[in-house]
This record gives sequence, C-alpha cells and structure tokens, in this order.
Amino acid sequence: MVEVSQEVPESIGDTMSNRKNIVVLGPPGAGKGTQCEKISETYDIPHISTGKMLREHKDLETEHGTARDYMEKGDLVPDRVVYRILDHRLEKNDTKQGFVLDGFPRDMEQAKHLEERRELDLVISLEVDQEEIMVRLTGRRVCEDCGESFHIKFRPPEEEKVCDECGGDLIHRDDDKREVIEERLEEYRNKTLPLKEFYNDKDLLEEVDGNGSIEEVWKKTRQTLEETL
Ligand code: AMP
Repeated sequence: MVEVSQEVPESIGDTMSNRKNIVVLGPPGAGKGTQCEKISETYDIPHISTGKMLREHKDLETEHGTARDYMEKGDLVPDRVVYRILDHRLEKNDTKQGFVLDGFPRDMEQAKHLEERRELDLVISLEVDQEEIMVRLTGRRVCEDCGESFHIKFRPPEEEKVCDECGGDLIHRDDDKREVIEERLEEYRNKTLPLKEFYNDKDLLEEVDGNGSIEEVWKKTRQTLEETL
C-alpha cells in the first residue's frame, strides 16, 4: 500500500504569508472604488466599501438623524453606525484571506478601531491633483440599483441616464455636487491625510500616482502590490 503523507506543504498551510489585508486611502474622486475592484478580482478578496454599504443603509438612525442626512452634506456618518456595519462585514468568512477596504478608516479614531480588529499588510495612498478630482466627480453618475459607476465624459452609458449593467436609473449623487465636493475634500485634508503619517511610521504606506487613465493607474497599483505583498 502506498503511504500518503498527512503533512501539509508549507506553502499551502502557511496562510499568514498569503493574507492580504489592504487599505486604500485617497481623496474623494481618486478612483479608490475602481482600483479596489481590480485588486479584489486579482487576489480574490472582497472589496469592502463603507460608502457603498452606507448608501445601502441610508435610513439607519443615528442620534441626530439618519445616515443619509450626513452623507448628503458630505459629513462623516457617526462612528457608532459605521463600526456596526463594518464589524458585521469583517466577521464574514470571505475576509479570512484578506480584504481591500475602501473609504475606511477616515480618521485616527477609525484607524485605531481597525487596528484592534485586523492587522494590515499594506496601505495604498492614491495621489490625485485637485483639478482632476473636480472633473472626475462632477461628471460621475452612479446606478441607483446596482451601484455601477459611469462618467459623462470618460465612461458614458450606451443610453443616457440608463445603467448598461442592469437598466437602472443613473443618478448624480448629492455628494458629487461641487459645494459638497469642496466639503468632502476639506474633510479629507483635515481628518484622513494624517493617517498617511500614521501608516508610514508602521512601514505600511505606499503612495501611487492616481492621475491618468484607469488602466495607467492600475498598472502602477499592480506593480506596487507585486513589489510589496
Ligand atoms: P464614499 O463613497 O467613500 O465617498 O463615501 C460616501 C459618504 O459616505 C461619505 O461622504 C460619508 O458621508 C460616508 N462614509 C463613507 N465611509 C465612511 C466612514 N468610514 N466614516 C464615516 N462616514 C463614511
């Protein structure tokens, strides 16, 4: 009889080295969602976007109104609500080998919350010029039903205001309007930017130039992933 070894080869058993717990930072309009999707497909890890999850739970009550009230003004939704949604998502089995987080953490408090739950392997910061951000965001249209993103100039839908993927209505998000974008950028500069230093001190931070086409940015992002993970 042939003896079968019960030993698991190190490369298969060693899940730690395969783990990819990734955070993508960047101002609104940096293309976090798009790059996160690509990372998610490439490594087969879930893309977790707090903005998307919050849009799906807009009516969740906070102490002062609903999540929607904050999002429409470009303000951060209170931590208690965001943590509830995020923690619930991170508990799912599909995050065991990793995840790519988009829109979280937004400030130091949230970074500490995450640190208590998961050890990170890489933090990418997408760097984009302010004028480019305005062009990208004011032209962005999002499907109300499936969340797919379009752009009136860079990725117009085949039929105006109709989603190519599911036929749903394309909307201009309230928080993609000029005054609100200014507000969100200010919020990013004050609260989220300091996180770069926090993660740099931990040797986790990699900056990626986010200007240019989706494919150009993806090439640079993928190169960073390959070199660091
Ligand atoms: P995003 O799609 O990441 O641009 O997020 C859209 C909006 O959702 C933000 O302007 C906030 O109002 C809210 N939001 C998303 N992520 C968070 C977070 N981590 N903490 C608080 N609010 C958030």
